Amino acid sequence: MKNIYSNIYKANLTNLKKAKKNIENDYIIGMPTETVYGLAGNAYSDKSVKKIFKFKKRPNFNPLIIHYKNLMDLKNDVILNKTFIKLYRAFCPGPITFILNRKIKSNISKIATAGKKTVAVRIPRHKIARNLLKILNVPLAAPSANIASKLSPTSAKDVVKEFGNKIKLILDGGYCQIGLESTIIDLTKKPSILRPGSITAEKIQKILNKTIGTKKSSEIVKAPGQLKLHYSPGIPVKMNRKYPEKNQAFIVFGKKFTKERNQFNLSKGGSLKEAARNLYKTMRKIKNKKFRSIAVTKIPNIGIGRAINDRLKKASKK
Ligand code: AMP
Ligand code: MG
Repeated sequence: MKNIYSNIYKANLTNLKKAKKNIENDYIIGMPTETVYGLAGNAYSDKSVKKIFKFKKRPNFNPLIIHYKNLMDLKNDVILNKTFIKLYRAFCPGPITFILNRKIKSNISKIATAGKKTVAVRIPRHKIARNLLKILNVPLAAPSANIASKLSPTSAKDVVKEFGNKIKLILDGGYCQIGLESTIIDLTKKPSILRPGSITAEKIQKILNKTIGTKKSSEIVKAPGQLKLHYSPGIPVKMNRKYPEKNQAFIVFGKKFTKERNQFNLSKGGSLKEAARNLYKTMRKIKNKKFRSIAVTKIPNIGIGRAINDRLKKASKK
């Protein structure tokens, strides 16, 4: 059955099969994952991958994450190592993306990986994404379903707002459970986090029994500057503010904030997990209410708070 939006589809078997057909014919679709919604296409098809870049207006040097149903499929395309196996056992399927070396015989579109010798791979845990991957014979290239540098979508409706009916089929998975993009870890050399996420450095270090570094993904894709502004609501964002300016939306966190005008609480109970889930949703709400700018209170820089601050920092770049 269709939703009131003609391109949002309930993820039943009939519609999953429809999605499969779309992918097999090099069309791209909207797909929920536990992190954010993805714009998914056949990772082995240049034609399909080109569409993803075009729809997103994504610069062609910025490679895509490739999504797999299982380890067996994944190892056709990348070279595994011991660190990967440990992290795979601990966190997969889940919200974590690994950078690994590409196998020479890999079929992944070179456009998807921006011609690099490495590939970003992930096995998502969202039931709908998994159900779709299970009936497909190919992995899915799936970046976040938003125009490049804008906010990632956390509901099917957000995807429609971003692309109108240009995307013919979006599988509905409700709101995303995590609401922030996956952790990205580079395992091609000494493990290093390129993008913080809900699987935190602390959790990873516990599994690996050693400290790991952090590096900006923009350093890796060799496009410093160009990718600085990201996750942007399209209006200025100011971090670490005690008070908002007049007519500014004020994003707050925790119970010490009593509800005041123009105030949006990410988590009244002070849960960083809840705050992460609400971040993009709240920014979209603020944008829809036509505020001209956003002030954000200080968010604790621990656990997933680091991922929240990373996104806010990038959203606040000019
Ligand atoms: P998104 O498009 O929102 O899913 O984000 C994907 C992120 O993964 C981008 O920041 C890419 O730069 C990064 N990425 C993808 N492939 C690679 C790679 N081979 N090496 C480093 N970063 C990558
Ligand atoms: Mg993105």
